[in-house]
Amino acid sequence: MLDRLPVLINPVSFSERGKKLTGPINVSDLTRLSDALVDDSGVVNIDFSFDKEGRRPILEGVIKANLMLQCQACLKPVEWSVERRFKLGFVISLEQADKLPGDCEPLLLDNESISLNALVEDELILALPDFPRHKEECIAREESVAEVKEDNEKQLDPNNPFSVLAEFKNTGD
Ligand SMILES: [Zn+2]
Repeated sequence: MLDRLPVLINPVSFSERGKKLTGPINVSDLTRLSDALVDDSGVVNIDFSFDKEGRRPILEGVIKANLMLQCQACLKPVEWSVERRFKLGFVISLEQADKLPGDCEPLLLDNESISLNALVEDELILALPDFPRHKEECIAREESVAEVKEDNEKQLDPNNPFSVLAEFKNTGD
């Protein structure tokens, strides 16, 4: 029988014990990630090994998933294969983070335990493309790509430099 994946991980104790975590996580349990998806069915497979480098707890991990994103050209679903490999060094201060080996990304611990799902989700979100597109068989033409881009820019209106400029003009009189 397979061990169920824990909800919380304790990096210090897991590293002491050289703990390994493998198994599936439901995509629908990753709520921040599923906001970016067309379909939140399916699973994410993780293969995590906790270890120590010197006295530093580290995690080497692989996350694999096939996620349903929305093609930014034709707006139809596009299946996206993700294979994210990473190495994290757990630290409790920025000084410790500076001393990590170059191949290690720092993860600052506020608490003894952290959420496994949150960690997986953060790594997956980093792995997603900003503008997913069908590699082939995309029905969109170049014109509709331009339209989508325009729409995205309109949504960023509060940060639009032109609206700031307009305010300056008004107060200047
Ligand atoms: Zn497409």
